Amino acid sequence: MKKIVILGGGESGVGAALLAKAKGFEVFLSDKGLLSDKSKETLSQNNIPFEEGEHTEAKILDATEVIKSPGIPDKVVLIKKLHSLRIPVISEIEFASRYTKAKIVAITGSNGKTTTTLLTYHILKSAGLNVGLAGNVGESFAKQVIEDTFDYFVLELSSFQLDNCFDFKADVAILLNITPDHLDRYDYVFQHYIESKFRILHHMTAADDFIYYQESEALMGELLKRTDLTVKRLPVSLIAPQPPEGELKSGLNTPPLGAGGLLQNDILHIQYQQQSFDFPVSELPIKGSHNAINAMCAILASQSLGLDNEQITAGLKSFQSVEHRLEPCGEIKGVKYINDSKATNVDSVFYALGSYNEPIILIMGGVDKGNDYRQIEQLVEQKVKALICMGTDNSKLVEFFGKKVPMIFTVDSMQKAVQLSSDLGTEGDVVLLSPACASFDLFKNYEDRGRQFKAAVAELE
Ligand code: ADP
Repeated sequence: MKKIVILGGGESGVGAALLAKAKGFEVFLSDKGLLSDKSKETLSQNNIPFEEGEHTEAKILDATEVIKSPGIPDKVVLIKKLHSLRIPVISEIEFASRYTKAKIVAITGSNGKTTTTLLTYHILKSAGLNVGLAGNVGESFAKQVIEDTFDYFVLELSSFQLDNCFDFKADVAILLNITPDHLDRYDYVFQHYIESKFRILHHMTAADDFIYYQESEALMGELLKRTDLTVKRLPVSLIAPQPPEGELKSGLNTPPLGAGGLLQNDILHIQYQQQSFDFPVSELPIKGSHNAINAMCAILASQSLGLDNEQITAGLKSFQSVEHRLEPCGEIKGVKYINDSKATNVDSVFYALGSYNEPIILIMGGVDKGNDYRQIEQLVEQKVKALICMGTDNSKLVEFFGKKVPMIFTVDSMQKAVQLSSDLGTEGDVVLLSPACASFDLFKNYEDRGRQFKAAVAELE
């Protein structure tokens, strides 16, 4: 009998174990760390043997196939041994995709995955499609395909999940952008990370749709090289193409749009085959030009699955902003408070700053992952009236921005940061928590940081 070993017992690992068991395989789950009580309970109830706090090599190397958690890097000795023994190492996504008949919308990118995934899912679901949500969000994909009741799945995929996909195929793929991230897992070679993101296109054919942001330099650079791709290309752009001179003279300044999305004069113009769809940016429930990109991608995916304009409009209008991503969380004495705790890299802060025209009191800081702040230098100089550096070590921020902002402060807790913001804020300001850094110096994770921000804001009222 096929022996499946699962490495890592989080949501996706336990889901994979349940699916493997349901399909009649011999299953063993091993986690080097400690398992949660919930994981242990689920495994025991389903008679799935497991271990925690160690990896028993003999058992693992005896596997026919190994399903690896995306958190485990390829360079650890155990994975190297599996590779040298030619034992296939796959991701939970790859495993689960073998057991579903559903059409798949797969979404990846360095930033914007969760927002775009949730928006796409919401539009499809509110249109009445029988659709599931999985990948990095919610319940595991594997667990949901045990019954396999959905007609569609919207999947959020990280590069780590894509790395261990081989036969997985999406019907619609969205690639939002590629900027340097997680390079420690790619031998510090950006090209390796780019190639990992492009794995989302594996096996896609001319019958499938590829939606992507065309102003992402790294993405376009790679796409130009992929002359063998037959998948239908649907670019999304924030830059209006220059109209031919004759049309300018005749006053016709709206250039014809090919298939894809374009933001022009504050209207999203989307063209999919014969279907044209226009939507004013001001009516989007999520703010900022980055969210215009995310929305255009979600709209194209919805059109690709056959939704009409009315259904898409209804979905867009009823979507609620996503927690911890430019999430408005109160207005006190004319000062707006925005929780963007999920902004853990500089690129996200760049878009956050671009989303407001008001003077900004910016709260940044935490664990720096090798940030290069030059990308946001200009925007900070233009828009930030006070910078509050919140972390156990604020020296890099103070050194970089010290002379570039009118006021700079350092604090070591969320409460102090919010109190100070409230003292500094005057009517019409925006207080923006957009840290550019990981959170674990002062917080459990970015959710904890965002919740503490919201709680501190609520205390001000
Ligand atoms: P991910 O799941 O890829 O981490 P999220 O949707 O959680 O992405 O957003 C993470 C951060 O990136 C947020 O701070 C958000 O404001 C920013 N962001 C969202 N969409 C984009 C985009 N298309 N380009 C750049 N930054 C984005």
